[in-house]
Amino acid sequence: MQKKPWRRWFTYSKINLEKNRIVNTKGREKPIRKSLHLKGIAAAPGIAMGQAFVLEKSPLQIPQYWIPVKELNSEIQRFQESILKINEDFLRIKERLCKYEGQAQIHILESYGMILQDELLVQNTIDHIKSEHINAEWALQKTLTRIKSVFSNFEESYFRERQSDIDYIGQKIIEHLVVGNTQEPMSNLPLNSILVAQDLSPAETSELHKYRIKGFVTEVGGETSHTAIVSRAMHLPAVLGCKQITQKIKNGETLILDGEAGIVILHPGPEELAHYQSLQKESVQADKKLLKQIHLPTETLDHFRLHLLANIELVEEIDSLKMQGAEGIGLFRTEFLFLNRAQAPSEEEQFQIYKKVVESVYPLPATIRTLDIGADKIPTQHKYKSEPNPALGLRAIRFCLKEKTLFKAQLRALLRASVFGRLKVMLPMISSLSEVAQVKKLLEEIKEELSAKKIDYDPHLPLGVMVETPSAVILAREIAREVDFLSIGTNDLIQYSLAVDRINEGVAHLYKPLHPTVLRLMKMTVQAAQEAHIPVGVCGEMASSPWYILILLGLGFSQLSMNALSIPRVKGMIRALSFREAKAVFEHALTFEYEQDLESFVRKELKRLVDVDALKISRI
Ligand code: PEP
Ligand code: MG
Repeated sequence: MQKKPWRRWFTYSKINLEKNRIVNTKGREKPIRKSLHLKGIAAAPGIAMGQAFVLEKSPLQIPQYWIPVKELNSEIQRFQESILKINEDFLRIKERLCKYEGQAQIHILESYGMILQDELLVQNTIDHIKSEHINAEWALQKTLTRIKSVFSNFEESYFRERQSDIDYIGQKIIEHLVVGNTQEPMSNLPLNSILVAQDLSPAETSELHKYRIKGFVTEVGGETSHTAIVSRAMHLPAVLGCKQITQKIKNGETLILDGEAGIVILHPGPEELAHYQSLQKESVQADKKLLKQIHLPTETLDHFRLHLLANIELVEEIDSLKMQGAEGIGLFRTEFLFLNRAQAPSEEEQFQIYKKVVESVYPLPATIRTLDIGADKIPTQHKYKSEPNPALGLRAIRFCLKEKTLFKAQLRALLRASVFGRLKVMLPMISSLSEVAQVKKLLEEIKEELSAKKIDYDPHLPLGVMVETPSAVILAREIAREVDFLSIGTNDLIQYSLAVDRINEGVAHLYKPLHPTVLRLMKMTVQAAQEAHIPVGVCGEMASSPWYILILLGLGFSQLSMNALSIPRVKGMIRALSFREAKAVFEHALTFEYEQDLESFVRKELKRLVDVDALKISRI
C-alpha cells in the first residue's frame, strides 16, 4: 500500500539547511526539493507558514492638467463628491468609535467634518478650478499651499494644530481623487497571510494586529529598530533586511518565515514544511516548560537576586505581563500613543492611560518614559519636519524641551497619575546635565501649579535617566547625583558609541552588543550608579537576548527590562547560572580587544555553563 504523502514527510528526521539535504531516520540522504532560502535579520521569534501577501506601496503621483471649459462643472462635481465620500467615511468611523472610545477621538472626527465644509478649503478650490481651468487635485494643492502660508504666520500651537488637521484632510481628498478611494493599502490583506513589504514603519507595524497576519518580512531594517521591537511586542514572527524579497515572491505563494534564525524559505517543499511544523511543536513544548517557572524568584544558583520587568509599546500588552512573570514595567514607550493619529493625545487622554497602566500593575512599579519621538518614530502630525540626519536630530528630550506645551502636558498627566500606583518617570536620550536640570525645573513648576489647584500628585515621584549616549556615560557620575535611577538603553548606546545606524541593514554586521567599547561603557555606568547608591538596569534589547545575559549578570545589574515574551527564558537562564561565575566571565571578557574574540568567548562560556537546548537557544 502506498504511504500517505504526509506520512512520508514525517519519517524524515533531520534537515541540513546549509547543504540543502534531508536525512531520513535510516540515515539516507536526498536533496530537498528546490526552494529558495533567503537570509535576513532575526527580528522577532516564532515560525510562520502560509501564503505571501506582497504590499505594493508606490508614492502618490498628483496629476496636473487643464480642464476644457465645458467640463468645468463636472470637475467641480468630482471634487464635491470626494468631499461627501470622505465625510461619510468619518461618520461611519465616528459611529463605531462611540461604542468603544473616549470623547477625545470623537471630537477630532467632528472637527474633521467641519474642515470638510470649510469655505477656505472648499470654495477656494472650486474658485481655482473655475478661474484657472485646472483639475481638482491641482486646485486643492494650491489651496493647501495658500492656507499653509497664512497659518505659518501664527505662533500659537492652536493654529499649527489646525494646520495639521487641514493637511491631513487635504491629503485624504487628494488620495480619493487620484485613486478613487481612500482604502488603506493593507485593507485587502487576507487573514493568516504573511506580509511581505519593502519597509514598514514602527507606526504601521503597531497597527498590524488589526489584520490578523501570521508574520512579516521586509527588505530593510535592523534587529533593534523599533519595527523589530514592536513585532516582538505583538508576538508576530518577523524577519527584516531580506534583500529583494518583494521581487522574488508573488502574492499567494507559500513561504516559511523563521523569525528565530532570520531565514525565509520561498516555495518550500513538503519536507521543509514538515520539518518546520515539528520545530513549531518543539518550541511550544519548550515554552510551556519555561512558563512553569515564572512564579519562582529570579535568582542565581548562589542566590543573587535580579528583577525582570517588561517593556511595553501598546497598552494592550499589559494583560500578558503577569502571565510571563514580569515584575512590573521597566519601560513604557509612550511615543506609540502619538503615532497613527492626526493630533497628539490631550493631557486628559494621557492621564487616563498612565493611570490605567500604573493601576494595572500595582503594587509592582511602572516606569513610564517621556516622549521619544523622532528618528524612526515619526508621527503623522505635520510639525515633525523631516531632518537630514534624524538619529542625531531633534529627537526625544531635545524635541520635548523645544515643544514645551506638549511636554508639559505629558509631565502634568504623569504627575497626576503618580498617586494611583508606583509610577517612575524616565527621560530618553539625555546627553547633558542641563537637560536634566531643565526637566527638573519644569516638574517643579508643574507641581506648584497642581498644588495651587489642589490636584494630587506624588511629591517624591522618582525620576530616572536613560543612558543611551556616550556623553551620558561620561557624565554618569554627575547625572547619578541628580536622579533616582539609571537605565541603560543599549539599542541607542550601541548605535551612538559605535556610530552604526540601528535601522540600516547595510551596517547590521557592525552592530555589535559584545564589543569591548560597549562593555566598558556599561561598566562605567554601573560604577557611577553604585557610587551614588542608586539602582541601575538595562532596558535595551540586549536584556532579552540569551547570549548577553551572562555578561549583564556579571556586570551586577539589579534590573533587566525586556519584551514580556522573553522573560521566562531569561529567568530560566539566570536560575541556571551562578553570579560568581558570571562575574568571572565578565572580568575575563573585559580583557579582549577584538569584538570577534570577545563574542566567541562569551558564546563558548555560555554553552559550557547552561543547557542551550533546554533553553531553546541552540538555533539562534
Ligand atoms: C534603547 O535605546 O535601548 C531603548 C530602550 O530605547 P528605544 O529602543 O526606544 O530607542
Ligand atoms: Mg533609545
